[in-house]
Amino acid sequence: MIGYQQQYLGYGIHCIDAHYVRQGQACCYLLVEDGGVAVIETGTNHTVSAISEALASLGLTAEAVRYVIPTHVHLDHAGGAGLLMQHYPDAQLVVHPRGARHLADPAKLIQGVVAVYGESAYRELYGELLAVPEERITSAEDGLGLSLDRRTLEIRHTPGHAEHHFCLWDEASNGWFTGDTFGLAYLTSALGGDRFIMPTTTPVQFAPERLLSSLDLLMSYQPQRVYLTHYGLLKAPERYVMLLREQINAWCEMALCLDAGPERESIICQRITDLTLARIKARWPDADMAMVEEDLAMDLELNAQGLEVWLQRQQQ
Ligand SMILES: [Zn+2]
Repeated sequence: MIGYQQQYLGYGIHCIDAHYVRQGQACCYLLVEDGGVAVIETGTNHTVSAISEALASLGLTAEAVRYVIPTHVHLDHAGGAGLLMQHYPDAQLVVHPRGARHLADPAKLIQGVVAVYGESAYRELYGELLAVPEERITSAEDGLGLSLDRRTLEIRHTPGHAEHHFCLWDEASNGWFTGDTFGLAYLTSALGGDRFIMPTTTPVQFAPERLLSSLDLLMSYQPQRVYLTHYGLLKAPERYVMLLREQINAWCEMALCLDAGPERESIICQRITDLTLARIKARWPDADMAMVEEDLAMDLELNAQGLEVWLQRQQQ
């Protein structure tokens, strides 16, 4: 049985399920250092009670939370920011400069997500987005260090998945909190102790060259761990990064060969699904393919949308 809900990963790092779509879809992290807490990723409004329960279970109060740090302003990462900040009166919200104004005034985010998912899914998935007062927002430039007692978290901008994305380097654990930059690898896609990893090319800012450069930046720190938002701890990231690069390149090459038109997005979705399933089957012949397909279906659809938007931008 996979340990969802709350899992201790060592180095003061706790992984909390975000209650997004289904168990194991998205998580956030509590980093606890000498009684001070950084909450990394907010999940959605539906995540807030799980974070509070986790804090309470560790004997920590709301006042212990110093930072709330979404890696970017996609709503499975930042949708709970407004409500969380109401719960944690002493916390500062730390966000990419390009994301800051959207958390101060979430109208545009709501508009964007309604365009992708529709109004009723938006309500169900995220609830009502709350604005964060501007004076409680720190706009984090590239290279900013955040101290939590003796521990420092370093922010590095990592565009490619989105222009408003950063990752957090935790020297104490030699690990990156990667948001969506290092792709996704669900625990249910654990195949014989291995994990299948896939890039996330979600709309509307996917930029392959920038994503590949961001992967190079992450690997230049020689990380031993990556903390994925989808989902959990992945050790030895050097074993996975080539697979991410290959898929980004293969998907873009494939997509560039397709003719523009109303059918293109669904063709892309079919092609990347076929490529992904073939890759998994070749490597893990015993995998439960129906389950893998179910796990990845939503992400493959979003990835196809993102690739289509990227193509349209190329051809403008
Ligand atoms: Zn994202």
